[in-house]
Amino acid sequence: MVTFNKKKFKQLFENKMYSIYAQSIEEANNEQLLTILSSVIKDIISKKWIETRLSCEKEVYYFSIEFLMGRQLKSNLLNLDIQKTIKDGLQEMGISLDDLINAEGDPALGNGGLGRLAACFLDSMASLNISGHGYGLRYKYGLFEQKFVNGYQVEVPDNWLTQGSYIWETVRPNKAIVVKFEGKVYLVEENNKLKAYHKNYIPVMAIPYDIPIIGYQNEYINTLRLFKSEVINRDFGPLTSNAKNHFGSYEEALKYKYYTEEISQSLYPNDSNYAGKLLRLKQEYFLVSAGMQDIIRKYKKSKLNILDLSKNIAIHINDTHPTLCIPELMRILIDEEQLSWDEAWCITKNTISYTNHTIMAEAMEKWPIDMMKKLLPRIYMIIEEINRRYVQNLNNKYNDHEKIKRMSIINHENISMANLCIVGSHSVNGVAALHTDLLKKEVLNEFYDDEPEKFNNKTNGIAHRRWVMNCNEDLSDLITDLIGDKWKKDTLQLKELEKYKNNSQVLSKLNNIKYSNKKRLADFISKEYNIEINPNSIYDVQIKRLHAYKRQLLNVLHILHLYHELLENPNFDMEPRTFIFGAKAAPGYDLAKCIIKFINSVANKINNDEKIENKIKVVFVENYGVSLAEIIIPAADVSEQISTTTKEASGTSNMKFMMNGAITLATLDGANVEIYEQVGDENIILFGLKASQVLNYNKYGGYSALDLYNSNRYIKRVVDDLINGFIPNMGNEGRKIYDSLITYNDEYFVLRDFENYIEAQYKVNELYKQKEKWNSISLVNIANSGMFSSDRTISEYAKYIWFKGVR
Ligand SMILES: *Cc1c(COP(=O)(O)O)cnc(C)c1O
Repeated sequence: MVTFNKKKFKQLFENKMYSIYAQSIEEANNEQLLTILSSVIKDIISKKWIETRLSCEKEVYYFSIEFLMGRQLKSNLLNLDIQKTIKDGLQEMGISLDDLINAEGDPALGNGGLGRLAACFLDSMASLNISGHGYGLRYKYGLFEQKFVNGYQVEVPDNWLTQGSYIWETVRPNKAIVVKFEGKVYLVEENNKLKAYHKNYIPVMAIPYDIPIIGYQNEYINTLRLFKSEVINRDFGPLTSNAKNHFGSYEEALKYKYYTEEISQSLYPNDSNYAGKLLRLKQEYFLVSAGMQDIIRKYKKSKLNILDLSKNIAIHINDTHPTLCIPELMRILIDEEQLSWDEAWCITKNTISYTNHTIMAEAMEKWPIDMMKKLLPRIYMIIEEINRRYVQNLNNKYNDHEKIKRMSIINHENISMANLCIVGSHSVNGVAALHTDLLKKEVLNEFYDDEPEKFNNKTNGIAHRRWVMNCNEDLSDLITDLIGDKWKKDTLQLKELEKYKNNSQVLSKLNNIKYSNKKRLADFISKEYNIEINPNSIYDVQIKRLHAYKRQLLNVLHILHLYHELLENPNFDMEPRTFIFGAKAAPGYDLAKCIIKFINSVANKINNDEKIENKIKVVFVENYGVSLAEIIIPAADVSEQISTTTKEASGTSNMKFMMNGAITLATLDGANVEIYEQVGDENIILFGLKASQVLNYNKYGGYSALDLYNSNRYIKRVVDDLINGFIPNMGNEGRKIYDSLITYNDEYFVLRDFENYIEAQYKVNELYKQKEKWNSISLVNIANSGMFSSDRTISEYAKYIWFKGVR
């Protein structure tokens, strides 16, 4: 793409430095150098970026309340294929590219898997020449920064916009959009049609900030557009005539300023309590309305017929947070485009598709009617009418009052977002085979029976460019040496690696790469945490949000078990192990925070006990996020995917680990099932309850944690550690965890799976002694990880959901 060379780059760089900072390169700090570099890169892509934006293909818009992008510099250079030119050019100016790569901030505009999936999808859409763009919010504060103080999680505001701006963004104030809240809606009959007048609303300005999403060496550049909320510009034109005047007094103006700016102020952990519920609803509508108006404005400029919207545009909603896309599109089509209800409904359904991400009841979004009515009066009217027609339709089909109540969108004073999504879209997909199966057979069974053709599976994937090519360059080079570089654009080619599974030379190279990644992580941990870990030990890693269903507790109880075994018998046969954790707990999630304190306390005791001769080390890294994942995953030997079966919809870290050659230790949950299908019995270590067993317990009961505790001395030993003072500095936290297991009967079957988990961990130990066999399994895992590229996932979305019958 880029017809520029080292000389030209240096010239551009120097000129930028003078024009932006009016200083010499020698005087600049890393932050400034990075700003200049990103600015030069934006200049060189600008022409292509505009071209891609003006392309006339069918366009996809991906709405997500989170985008967990990670650092962009390295990935942008790789995708533009200018890494070497830039590196050399910088070097000649005395600047280290690696320093700049590491100086870049990591925007935490997401919690975990859901936000990271959105980021991987953007990467894949651009790389597959799909005109697919993201819509999200430009939170002033992302997910909190986590610190440990005395073993407790402490949350510090994530002030990622220290410079006031983000190096990759371009603000477009000329494309601002007004979103309307509150006020009153009057329906007036005009020419036999009801016309809606929205009066006295509170206007909030949505300012777009665009981030380029650069495809992999294909000259294709899409956009992630993030909206920031601001007070309306007083000169914004005539639309303010119906808006409430908020500039009456100084106090009014201040209140109004707070009201607007609060909306994009900070990201909520989605799985915490529901404090700030109203604000969250404001955020969701703000994102949806700004994005939807933006899409329609652009569409109309292109002079296409509004009746053809679904032929030219696909809108995807990532979980239920952007559900209001459905009534918002109805509002625009009816109130602004003057279409009939039936026309608008047909277009809306055919345009919108929805991904479900969880079956956990407490994570299903519901909004009180009163809240919706007051905040979004017109949207509420439309939801009510969608529901009225839907229920009427159900009444014609079924004579079952209870069933209809369960399926209706509005019930028990609440609006169910999942139900609205299913009714108002043409496609509902789960994110792994088992999860989709559970949606069909259990959670959404009645909807499935009603409209089976809507339901489908799209197993998640990960951007292999970021998660192998960028974060594990040595492995990437080895693969290319062995099978050529076709795998970079078609990961199914990785299968070719399997022919080396008995080749000692190759396995030894693989081993050396793993070792050097482990060494790199050991150096990092030594520097950051002052803990020395042994690169020859097994690196056993669990990194993901902290949640009871993910069962970090099971992991740490097993560590305690090993510790007891070692104390009782110093010759206990075990390979040295380093357990690595990384996890944030939602600020309002008490049990999760207790578990963090527990792990840290266990780590502190074990790491400082000389009796066990460093056989076990436990490291809990602070502030887990994308950048940490990028150095931990390439170094992992064991990938802990130990959720309570049925609870993890897919998981994606399981795929990242697999592609980097870690061996999966897993329950048959989420996409672990598909990993198992890819590699077979010999190349994965499984344990725990099957989905059917968990479903049976949930339906019919029959599980007693107390009985297990009383009958199994290993279980009793580690559970008692929670409350008997064996672990120093445990306050009330141990008791709370104990109660969750014993008093409240262990909702997540930690104790039920404990023995089985110990056995599985023992298999890990035995296997690691046969290092060549281990490496062979590692290679087989890499070879069969091809289907977990998000390129495969996105191709399926494109073919079966977005471009069905188009491409
Ligand atoms: C991939 C990823 C996740 C998702 O991890 P799971 O184990 O699938 O829950 C969460 N956070 C970050 C930073 C990730 O990169």
